[in-house]
Amino acid sequence: MAMNHLASTTNTSPHDHSDCVQTALATAEQLCRHRGLRFTAIRQRVLELVWDSHKPIGAYDILETLGRESTSAAPPTVYRALDFLIEAGLVHRLDSLNAFVGCPDPGKRHAGQFLICTRCRTVTELSDPEIEQLIAGKAAAGGFTAMRQMLEIEGLCNHCRTTAQSA
Ligand SMILES: [Zn+2]
Ligand SMILES: [Zn+2]
Ligand SMILES: [Zn+2]
Repeated sequence: MAMNHLASTTNTSPHDHSDCVQTALATAEQLCRHRGLRFTAIRQRVLELVWDSHKPIGAYDILETLGRESTSAAPPTVYRALDFLIEAGLVHRLDSLNAFVGCPDPGKRHAGQFLICTRCRTVTELSDPEIEQLIAGKAAAGGFTAMRQMLEIEGLCNHCRTTAQSA
């Protein structure tokens, strides 16, 4: 299932978010089966919580929600589940916010470029190979080998920009 989510798919425009969650879970299940990884109940539930919205969620919020459920998972279990999801490329960690977002296109390895709205905290992921290659190329020209790229770009999403203007 090669779905191309680019910036045109704005996460802030009204949409049926349950579709996003369904797709994310189905994709994750498929990907795990394909790679021979176990998509355990806790991994599934943590992924679902990360996909609760397009806003990044902190580990603490995940723990708190799980604590209220019968799925009383010990913090190390939850952290391990998060590590698994990150390692599998299903979830990205945003360092600047110390929080997690679901990846809309986990099928292939990619560097993410994240557009983070400073007002509503919605995150839109671009995974543009051209940007990735450009950075890797510039780095290589300086004798540097780029291993991991995370671009976190702060600004205002379309929705917040328009409401800021009309206010
Ligand atoms: Zn959505
Ligand atoms: Zn991604
Ligand atoms: Zn916004």
